[in-house]
Amino acid sequence: MARIPTIPGSRRLLARVRDIMAGAGTAQERLDRIVAIIATDMVAEVCSIYVLRAGEVLELFANTGLAPSAVHQTRLNIGEGLIGNIARRARPLALSDAQSHPAFAYRPETGEEKYHSLAGVPILRDGRVTGVIAVQNRTRRHYTEEETESLETIAMVVAELIASGELISSDELHAVDGATMLPITVQGVRLNGGLAIGTAIRHERRVTIDRLVADNPDTEKQRLFGALGDMHGAIDRMLEASDVADGGEPREILETYRMFAEDAGWLARIEEAIETGLSAEAAVVKVRNDTRARFRMQTDPYLRERMHDFEDLANRLLKHLIGEMVSPGSRADVGDFILVARNMGPAELLDYDRTHLKGLVLEEGSATTHVAIVAKALDIPVVGRAGEILAMVENLDTIVIDGDNAEVHVRPSDEAINAYNYMLTARAQKIAAYASLYDVPAETKDGIHISLNVNAGLLADVQNMKDIGADGIGLYRTEIPFMESNNFPDVDRQADLYQRIIDQSEGKPVVFRTLDVGGDKDLPYWKMAAGENPAMGWRAVRVALDRPTILRHQFRALIRAANGRELRVMFPMITEVAEFDAARHIVDQEIKTAEARGRTLPEKLLIGTMLEVPALAYQMDALLERVDFVSVGSNDLFQFLFASDRGSPVIADRYDPLAPAALCLLADVARRCTDAGIPFSVCGEMAGRPLDAMALVGLGFRNLSMATSSIGPVKAMIRSLSATELTEYMDSLFSSSEHSLREKLREFAVDHGVII
Ligand code: PEP
Ligand code: MG
Repeated sequence: MARIPTIPGSRRLLARVRDIMAGAGTAQERLDRIVAIIATDMVAEVCSIYVLRAGEVLELFANTGLAPSAVHQTRLNIGEGLIGNIARRARPLALSDAQSHPAFAYRPETGEEKYHSLAGVPILRDGRVTGVIAVQNRTRRHYTEEETESLETIAMVVAELIASGELISSDELHAVDGATMLPITVQGVRLNGGLAIGTAIRHERRVTIDRLVADNPDTEKQRLFGALGDMHGAIDRMLEASDVADGGEPREILETYRMFAEDAGWLARIEEAIETGLSAEAAVVKVRNDTRARFRMQTDPYLRERMHDFEDLANRLLKHLIGEMVSPGSRADVGDFILVARNMGPAELLDYDRTHLKGLVLEEGSATTHVAIVAKALDIPVVGRAGEILAMVENLDTIVIDGDNAEVHVRPSDEAINAYNYMLTARAQKIAAYASLYDVPAETKDGIHISLNVNAGLLADVQNMKDIGADGIGLYRTEIPFMESNNFPDVDRQADLYQRIIDQSEGKPVVFRTLDVGGDKDLPYWKMAAGENPAMGWRAVRVALDRPTILRHQFRALIRAANGRELRVMFPMITEVAEFDAARHIVDQEIKTAEARGRTLPEKLLIGTMLEVPALAYQMDALLERVDFVSVGSNDLFQFLFASDRGSPVIADRYDPLAPAALCLLADVARRCTDAGIPFSVCGEMAGRPLDAMALVGLGFRNLSMATSSIGPVKAMIRSLSATELTEYMDSLFSSSEHSLREKLREFAVDHGVII
């Protein structure tokens, strides 16, 4: 391990800064004293503190050495001059000849032309820049690394002073200042439609550190090593668990993880930070913030992933040092809120209070489409790829999220808020208008009944399904409750949940899909190697066949939950008939065991398959001899058919489910299932879009499953459609060479008065 230099000088300086912070006087007076002692201690002629004000403006807040009149007058934009440059890069800068740096900008009101050298550091809080501290000297001075480190440590303390709201009002820290905090609209991609207004909550596990500064570095190091020991112990226990149980974290991931935990450079940086006078927890936060700021500049996805590893590690270590961290979203006092995150897993989304969570904005949001599926189950709008929105939004800003148009309006004006409130009312009225359709049958004008079912994953979906008069649950994604859990649910917990779903469905059919995890559908307690193409990797039934215990336990729970009633189950991602046979064999074994144990078996057991891998469509004859039903998962089916990542916004609109190739495939599946007398349906997202659903009905699909919010619009479409006319029309389209038949189908709808 690297030898840690002792820096008693910087510790003394930090202790003095801490005393000033704890002492008397206004925040401004304390800041003035801080610049004075930094200048004295570092033998600098100038010391300045700039604070980031609303509208991305850095204002000179305290200074010694420059013209006093410049304080509160000198303002720089992010990126402007050396100070703006430090803020933009979120990195320290030390220059012996500052004026020759290309970013140098001369401000006559400060009189700083005399000073040749400059060292500055960003003031960071939660990985965001909130100001800059800089020292300047007349001579061409070479500042040492220890000196900039020392400034960084003081910056942490000053960050707390800024965040306290004593220096600039918390109103300005968070809310609208007409002159500088202008409203902004950020364009992203639609991950789920809908409209909502709420308070912004940035998704970041916030650490409350009560003790930033510590007098005795040795005690802090002991605490650090104690926590590290605990953390290693916890990782080792996970490693042991992975040896003995199915469902433990795969060994190689944990090994890598432990390697990171023992990374000498990382630990050395934490120890160095302690040497400068920080408490152990503040030192971990400092190193985490530095790493975050550094990695943020990285465009290489591999390196960005490493940032997540170190960040995760730092968070775990903090947990061992100070206990649980709180997330702002769990606060009860924010009212309705819109979550803003760089990216997040579905399980993390489910950690938030669902009654007040009204929308989700993601800076990335393409890789983890599953969070969007969970958000859809929660019926909240989601906008992804929303630029650098975290840099523009503060906690408690007002946000309007318009999922339909993939727009996020940050700090909208009062007029805009009124307009959006009006739109919200109009939407509510439209939704209420659909309510009048809940009790009427989903029947076309020519008398064809279409079974409309919901896609579910939360218990609340079951109530919604009944409320809106759907026929049943066409797809129950069992992985969603697994994601909500902190550990792998055992048979009892699964059985209890499935039983509640069946009970509450009151006789309406429920199709349980066995666990579809792996690839990008991560469980928080079971990190699986992602591979290069996670969607095509070790996921869904592929995992079940390799870890049969998981499938057997799930089936055991389902048999118990059914308790003699009908049970419908399907497997995800079946690629070939042999896989269906293998999965079925595991299930049969479990039935035999249940029988031998005298368990009550379901009065009727229907075992079906998802059709979401194109290869399976070429084995339809063999498949249809074996299955009780087929459910087309168009989301995956088309991503594989078109070789087009379903989560990538760049190619999201490139291929259309209403393209001739896609419709030919669906028509073929529908015809073969009809001929064989096997029930078939579509449960992918296309079934919930009125025009796409219209095409499916034209192809012969009579059973559709969709998000609850789509039932009303799809039923309105069905009741205004003559299916026979549409089928005749579509017969003429299959040989088309066009990119998509969407426009033709839209014209048909308009000409025939179909509500789409
Ligand atoms: C599908 O792929 O269409 C489907 C319904 O499954 P999921 O979206 O859960 O992958
Ligand atoms: Mg799928």
